[in-house]
Amino acid sequence: MTVADQLARAELLSLDSRGLLRSLEPLRSPPGAEISLGEERLTNFSANDYLGLAADPRIAAALAEGALRWGAGAGASRLVCGDFLPHRALEQELAQFEQTEAALLFNSGYAANTGVLPVLAGPGDLILSDELNHASLIDGCRLSRARVEVYRHADAGDCAEAVTRARAHARRILVVTDSVFSMDGDRAPLKDLASLCAQHGAMLYVDEAHATGVLGPRGRGLCAEAGIEPDLRMATLSKAAGVAGAYIAASRSVCDWLLNRARPFIYSTALPPALAHAALTAVRLLAGSEGDERRARLHRNAGRFCDGLRKLGLEAAAQSAIFPVVLGSPERALAAATHLRKRGMLVKAIRPPTVPEGKSRLRFALSAAHSDAQVNQVLSALGEVI
Ligand code: PMP
Repeated sequence: MTVADQLARAELLSLDSRGLLRSLEPLRSPPGAEISLGEERLTNFSANDYLGLAADPRIAAALAEGALRWGAGAGASRLVCGDFLPHRALEQELAQFEQTEAALLFNSGYAANTGVLPVLAGPGDLILSDELNHASLIDGCRLSRARVEVYRHADAGDCAEAVTRARAHARRILVVTDSVFSMDGDRAPLKDLASLCAQHGAMLYVDEAHATGVLGPRGRGLCAEAGIEPDLRMATLSKAAGVAGAYIAASRSVCDWLLNRARPFIYSTALPPALAHAALTAVRLLAGSEGDERRARLHRNAGRFCDGLRKLGLEAAAQSAIFPVVLGSPERALAAATHLRKRGMLVKAIRPPTVPEGKSRLRFALSAAHSDAQVNQVLSALGEVI
């Protein structure tokens, strides 16, 4: 046994004893409301495929067309020799969609958040970060080596106090938040954060991963719905758009700054151009009238699900497509997930460190692709375990 083997076995045993072990399961079908997982056929409430686009044949055809035209891989980072026309066409479309001067692609939301925050802030600077921000934002804060103050969840007042306390020692100030929180489905107080930033000359960075395509006019996200324009918005192409990758929507100078400084942009091979070509089709669908219809279906499903949760005596608000049912211990969340699975539904248990200790939960992600019957079925199965 190697040293790494010994360490791995001990760690895995320890995770298992605490109900925290994770493992992979093979999907045997395309993504969608109905999936084949191992030998089971399940209704899927665990994916972030909010508009049901991940297996859309038009996007798949665009990917195939892109691959035949541009090949499979980019071959290098965009700055070296990997800047293809589809990357540029997609960025232009995204800037238009977001109504910003420019957009800059990243290979994933994780790469964008961990790459961009260290450009915006560094040693001697101050970052204010919501306590429930996504792990990729937390890691971006850590990589920046700025001083990080974590404020109470969705509490602009607490953020303001932290700014007042720490601003004297800070060169730049940066406020960082999810717009829709990934494990709770609630919303950040964006208007209050934007005015706080304006008051203190601070920058605002908003992660719209779970809002783009879902909320706001034409699916432009929660910033657009709230009528604010932060310095930078990050959005993913992997959730409502159903593809992969992410982008920053900002001014031309900010995007030029990032392409000169953001390490995942500089040192990582570009997204395959075929994928950018497919994402272009996805963004057009998402931002068009079909996107509006899908959003209407999604919100109807979310409203129906929210009403059902309340009828079960649970507190719920339809603020996004995400609904947590907090159960406490990892074991309780796992038992509930197992019960739902026996009833033919996939709702993964979310456990620490993804959520705080004592807050293990079922996380339901609704989709435009769910039928009324599927929403009703999952509610009645949930009623048997809570
Ligand atoms: N931000 C948030 C809020 C997320 O939930 C996620 C993914 N779960 C990411 C960023 C990372 O995006 P990607 O999956 O494209 O890496």
